[in-house]
Amino acid sequence: MIIENLVKLQDIDTQLTDIEELLGDLPTKVEDLNNQEKGLVDIVTENKSRVKEIDLSCAKNEGKLQDIKEKIEKYKEQLFAVTNNKQYDAMMNEMDFLKQDRDKIETEELNWLEEKETLETETKEKEDSLEALTLDLRSRRETLKIAILNSAEEKKVLEEQRSEATKDLSPEIMALYKKVLNARNGYAVVELVNNACGGCGAVVPPQTASEIRNNLAVHNCGSCGRFIYGKKKEQD
Ligand SMILES: [Zn+2]
Repeated sequence: MIIENLVKLQDIDTQLTDIEELLGDLPTKVEDLNNQEKGLVDIVTENKSRVKEIDLSCAKNEGKLQDIKEKIEKYKEQLFAVTNNKQYDAMMNEMDFLKQDRDKIETEELNWLEEKETLETETKEKEDSLEALTLDLRSRRETLKIAILNSAEEKKVLEEQRSEATKDLSPEIMALYKKVLNARNGYAVVELVNNACGGCGAVVPPQTASEIRNNLAVHNCGSCGRFIYGKKKEQD
């Protein structure tokens, strides 16, 4: 029976669409998570390398500060031996310069330490998110893998059923089926419900409805074009 094959075909195509939709969404989600993961890893890596840089700069500054401290100490000792005002002023000037340098270095270091603290807090946060994300990602990747495997098997079975269901359908019927399927959101075959089209609700003439119920002819809804079938139990 043409209509019975069409009903089967519709059922198979609906299942195939479901599989496509499931797979269509998952890979995108996994890719999204992969990108998020990469973003977090990049930030953590950048932060850690910046912290290393700061540590190195701070160590260098310690050397500079030690140097300045020694110089100032030396000037202080020399001050006692100074014999004239000009020399004294010159030495005091030098010491002022050194102290300015020292202040600059110390301010710089404070800023770095503050930056380091911010970076370390952020790194910790990102590492926590990364841990949660990686868990999520792992489970989704697993789901995807299983879904692909399962659906491959399921698809194979459905494709076989599909060729079985379509082998007796004429090219004209198939062309019409595809046309209606595309035009009507994937539903081309619907049930007769209370003498009306189960797809759009348009009333079917009594004679046609009777033919549909008794499987006497293939009818398409005059309004939406869908194929209409009747359930056997509605026959009497
Ligand atoms: Zn209709």
